[in-house]
Amino acid sequence: MRVKEVCQFDSGDIYPICPRCGMTIDREYMSFCDRCGQRLGWELFDYAVIVKAPR
Ligand SMILES: [Zn+2]
Repeated sequence: MRVKEVCQFDSGDIYPICPRCGMTIDREYMSFCDRCGQRLGWELFDYAVIVKAPR
């Protein structure tokens, strides 16, 4: 599945969001999600939508 959303925290840090489990991914361009094991595609990452982190 392709990564299409990124999460921005108040600190300004941006993390990709796993399209399957919805958790943030620690590092960009990982091949698989740490948590659910979903294989990740980064073809659309440049166009990812920025989502504010929940407080
Ligand atoms: Zn996941």
